[in-house]
Amino acid sequence: MSKRERCWICDSTGPLSKEHRVKRSDLQDLFGNVSAEHPLYLHNDARRNQRIISLKNDRLKSGGPICISCNSTRTQPHDEAWTKLSRALRRRLPYMKAGQRFSGTNVFAPDTRRQMLNVHLYFAKLFGCHIADLNVAIDLSPFRRAILDSVAHPGLYLNFGFGLTDGGEPHVGTSDIELVTKSGANTILAATWFQGVANLSVRVTFADAERQRLKSLADAWHPDRGTSLRIVDYTR
Ligand SMILES: [Zn+2]
Repeated sequence: MSKRERCWICDSTGPLSKEHRVKRSDLQDLFGNVSAEHPLYLHNDARRNQRIISLKNDRLKSGGPICISCNSTRTQPHDEAWTKLSRALRRRLPYMKAGQRFSGTNVFAPDTRRQMLNVHLYFAKLFGCHIADLNVAIDLSPFRRAILDSVAHPGLYLNFGFGLTDGGEPHVGTSDIELVTKSGANTILAATWFQGVANLSVRVTFADAERQRLKSLADAWHPDRGTSLRIVDYTR
């Protein structure tokens, strides 16, 4: 008998669901209503040009199981905060330069700190789903604790910037996870992946305690660092 799947956040056995790799609201903004008449084409390592006729398609989701209650009630404020920030950044980026700052107060005042924490927690959910899906050797407990207790994950950082392109086309989707391991050991020191939402790319980084001091993370945003984001150029 196969092991019963459990929600990686609250350990419940269900009913279980899956999280969209790119938020459905973002896909809707970019592609409108997707149907047999207006399909989307999904590319991944397995296959190119997979025809998608509904935004509910499981191929648009990460495989890590989370229960319906965690995916709706518990994390709804996180999802909503990301929908707002994503829209605001995509609108604003064409008028910005690399290195410029974008203040969370533009979107969330007067509740900026809490709503920016919710954005961080949205990416904690998505990262946790990828870890659970791919069986990556990164401890899920700080991700779990962050979501259950509404606190920041100490090693989860975000960068926001101009979109990566995929063969000249704007990238919409999530990249593979790039891992930095200790030589000769399986210990993961850092892990990075990108989420592309057309002209906006988000770089998501997990760093262990030692790596959290690294210079490469100096520009990254973490809830402990306030509510202002430094825009990075990922198009080069
Ligand atoms: Zn759950």
